Amino acid sequence: MKGNWITLLGNGDLNVPDDPVIGFIEGDGIGPDIWVAARMVLDAAVEKSFGGRRKIFWRELLAGEKAFEANGVWVPQETLDLLRKCMIAIKGPMTTPVGEGIRSLNVMLRQLLDLYACVRPVRYFAGVPSPVKHPERVNMVVFRENTEDLYAGIEWASGSMEARRFAAILKEEFGVDVPLESAFGVKPMSRRGSQRLVRRAIQYALARKLPSVTFVHKGNIMKFTEGAFRKWGYELASEEFGDVTVTEWEVMEKHGGRAPSGRVVIKDRIADSMFQQALLRPEEYHVLATPNLNGDYLSDALAAQVGGLGMAPGANIGDSCAVFEATHGSAPKYAGMDKVNPGSLILSGVMMLEHMGWDEAGKLITRALERTIADKVVTYDLARQMEGASEVKCSEFAGAIVDRM
Ligand code: NAD
Repeated sequence: MKGNWITLLGNGDLNVPDDPVIGFIEGDGIGPDIWVAARMVLDAAVEKSFGGRRKIFWRELLAGEKAFEANGVWVPQETLDLLRKCMIAIKGPMTTPVGEGIRSLNVMLRQLLDLYACVRPVRYFAGVPSPVKHPERVNMVVFRENTEDLYAGIEWASGSMEARRFAAILKEEFGVDVPLESAFGVKPMSRRGSQRLVRRAIQYALARKLPSVTFVHKGNIMKFTEGAFRKWGYELASEEFGDVTVTEWEVMEKHGGRAPSGRVVIKDRIADSMFQQALLRPEEYHVLATPNLNGDYLSDALAAQVGGLGMAPGANIGDSCAVFEATHGSAPKYAGMDKVNPGSLILSGVMMLEHMGWDEAGKLITRALERTIADKVVTYDLARQMEGASEVKCSEFAGAIVDRM
């Protein structure tokens, strides 16, 4: 085999060789189109940044429809084993097979590999059509907890034996009455699950010298889950990062309203208020750390503010594995047409390069992408909303980015 595996150092950092083996899952629907485009851009950026000293050795991992057609399994064991071995992979969107009892393959991957942090940077690219007046004020990274909360998949249908039994336990053991035939969803949230997410968010802010981390929760209503997320977050910040963080309250009470230099300000907002803040004062927020459900809503809303999901990258990160992925779906009606916007997967690739410590290549792509959009060379989704745009195909858009590196 060509290339070398990435390994983990004793302190938990990645040891990335100059010729790393990195996994890719093409994905379904438009997946192959955007993957070809993204790979072209990633390879060119690495080549141009490091002049042949570094090179990625791509290893295909089967999952989704391609895996099912080949051997009747949606996510083969071999793919999971290789993902663990590669430690870093990038994937296109996968169609969720329709059918009773089949769960989302994406959710399945996140849970099997314990990819507990969903990381979604949201920023504006000048020229992209947006529904707000000042999209350029948005520059935030959402850290969404990925394994707990109402997404844990513990729910019972109205009238089911489990739901009736649960209602009976509530009444008999806790004296709580709920309407007959209620359905139930359980919201488990743990200290460990919350704190490992918050730890990553604070480490990210520190590494990039960002001014603040905000916990977004609904703790005024759900005191022992969302409220605990807030409490555990502050506890972790003070216990593990006490010398490099300061709370918003301390800034006001002890520092005359100005954060001491070099310290990350830790603050929290109730989720509904955060949606207002994101529209009214987005420049005051940098990193958001939030439980699963809030994070799901918030990251899509923020992406819409800067021009939609076509340009929104994402990553699912655990302690050893990280999977970078387009945040949109497989858009089956555009499959194989070489038409859609590969921006989301390309920018996910930029996150991947940063995760590897190959920041130069990431920056090269970001700058070239900025220039391409400023030149109004864009795919159909943006072209139809931009005056004077030249509409190009998916692969041509990638070519235009490479030309501008
Ligand atoms: P979708 O995101 O696939 O497509 C909705 C519409 O958005 C498309 O018809 C298209 O108009 C537009 N669109 C999406 N991506 C685009 C791009 N890159 N460029 C330009 N336009 C784009 O959402 P859907 O139709 O609800 O879902 C289709 C399938 O994808 C479902 O099976 C769903 O489960 C799956 N899905 C997968 C992921 C993932 O893999 N992470 C995420 C969401 C949905």
